[in-house]
Amino acid sequence: MKDNWTIESADQFYGISKWGEGYFGVNKKGELAAYPDLNKLDVQISLKNIIDEIKNEGIELPVVIRFQDILRARVKELNKSFRSAIRSLGYCGTYKGVYPVKVNQMREVVEEVIESGADYDYGLEAGSKSELMTILALNTNRNSLSILNGYKDEHYIRLALIGTKIGRNIVIVVEKPSELDLIIRLAKETKTRPMIGIRSKLSFKGSGKWENSAGDNAKFGLSTTEIIQAVNKLKSDHFLDCLKLFHFHVGSQIPIIGTIQDAITEGARYYAQLVKMGAPLEFFDVGGGLGVDYDGSQSSNDSSINYSMEEYAKDVVQSLMQICDQEEVNHPTIVSESGRAITAHHSCVITKVIGEINPSKTSFENVESDNEHLFVQNMRQVAAEVNEENFMAAYNTISKIKEDTLNAFKLGVLGLENRAKVEDLYWCTLKRVFEIASEVEEESEIVWELRQKLSSQYLCNFSVFQSTADSWAIKQVLPVVPITRLDEFPVKEGSIADITCDSDGKICHFYNENEPSNTTRFHELKSDEDYYLGIFMTGAYQDVMGDMHNLFGRLNEVHVYSDDDDPTDFYIEEVIRGQKSSQVLKTMQYNPELMAMMMKKEIDRQVMRGQIPPREGVRLIDFYEESLYRYTYLK
Ligand SMILES: *Cc1c(COP(=O)(O)O)cnc(C)c1O
Repeated sequence: MKDNWTIESADQFYGISKWGEGYFGVNKKGELAAYPDLNKLDVQISLKNIIDEIKNEGIELPVVIRFQDILRARVKELNKSFRSAIRSLGYCGTYKGVYPVKVNQMREVVEEVIESGADYDYGLEAGSKSELMTILALNTNRNSLSILNGYKDEHYIRLALIGTKIGRNIVIVVEKPSELDLIIRLAKETKTRPMIGIRSKLSFKGSGKWENSAGDNAKFGLSTTEIIQAVNKLKSDHFLDCLKLFHFHVGSQIPIIGTIQDAITEGARYYAQLVKMGAPLEFFDVGGGLGVDYDGSQSSNDSSINYSMEEYAKDVVQSLMQICDQEEVNHPTIVSESGRAITAHHSCVITKVIGEINPSKTSFENVESDNEHLFVQNMRQVAAEVNEENFMAAYNTISKIKEDTLNAFKLGVLGLENRAKVEDLYWCTLKRVFEIASEVEEESEIVWELRQKLSSQYLCNFSVFQSTADSWAIKQVLPVVPITRLDEFPVKEGSIADITCDSDGKICHFYNENEPSNTTRFHELKSDEDYYLGIFMTGAYQDVMGDMHNLFGRLNEVHVYSDDDDPTDFYIEEVIRGQKSSQVLKTMQYNPELMAMMMKKEIDRQVMRGQIPPREGVRLIDFYEESLYRYTYLK
């Protein structure tokens, strides 16, 4: 691999074409590139070019790059997939999807989704009052749906009924039985006839990380008995004509297509039986769950999917149609609430590597002296004698000596100097053992073990808690790829450490050549060249779940559009500045002006006492004040 490494090897190693669905690849210069239009592959946007441009404009890294064209393309792809499945299978209903705004509520994202889905009457879904207010304001298409999930109070329902009054296709989905009483009471009071949906728990147990979203212990939805009671209640209150939608949601990132088929089959039976009970249902809402292939393995791993968007659409339509035909009921309008699959690909985080942490990287001057401790002498001997024959034994011996040294140090019988010598010799010898073992047998267990032991941590200027929350919280794999030098063999084995003061601030779940690993490969850092890493597929959930750990706050963000006529094939349409220290401090109830005044007082006092010269005092105050209005990340 090392000797005949090409850009194709890089693509394969990092799984770029696979997780990237064709939207990302490696260009001829060995740079990571975005291909926003799959039908026009000559339009290539080099991420290195974007970084150069934003640096020229004085925008600091880390930065979120949004490819608005990819977002657009995903919306269209989903709608086209359902349309073509419906056509090819002869399904009699249509498809009307909604985008669940919780997946990424950024105004620019939601607006782009609405605009690119306008031809398909693509709508929005909300799960809280704040989200409801955004969709009331933004979803002005009279033919698209506005679906309201999540727990609801009186205020929520009153807001929803405003939508109904102004002619929007609002569907209020009942998540727990008491909501129905509230809806009926308020609808009567305001003389509105809202569309009502019912969410079923289904009996079914899903798969993947969110497998408890359905089933008896699900948080949301009605049980079978509760559904029957709800229908009876609607009947007796003369609201049955409002019951338009049947809904279920089996969890997010469903890795296995069979799970989706099972859920549709069960849901379709409910639908058919309810129709036969007299419910005038029009919409069959299959919720979210359409996954993306984070690890690029195209498998049933939790971070992957074993199906494509087209196959998903086809399976939904086919499974539903089969049951409807069997039960002899009409084919309903199909609704899906796919969020992850719409937004995941379109944004990424670019961070600069600012250092390397490696225990074996020492510049310690290890000179032999008289009366060295026996452990040091033994270490020296092993180090001098390690060869192809004895490397396994050598490995065991140095590990044992290192352990004994630590114990001796703790007991106070071996000093700091000697311990340093042992450790230095240990790492040097370990590297030698690794080299020899790799020559003898490249794919052996010992080589694998030593590679991990000797791996580096690349220290990156970003916060895991702000930018890649799921890699920390649920061990979600996210693709990590160097932005440049992809035509060069990446010699370093390593993982990622962030700049928060939290030991958990690391990324150590990767897929290399389709295999899971705690490390991946990077290039050797050069002193005269910046090295950037991209963390990809952060557009779904990551962007909006970030938190304020260590007060780093939101990142600078650029919105990139492709432009065939531009020499670089792109232009930056908008720059949204990340948070300054003063801004993150305000969210924690500090008053930056007051803080500056307090510091000034303190420095003035030292000046009065003659501890600090007046000129320097002024400079220190200015520096503190200026720092309040700077980007929170490292410069
Ligand atoms: C979160 C959520 C979705 C979005 O799911 P994805 O798997 O991201 O597509 C859809 N519907 C409901 C009810 C949700 O809670």
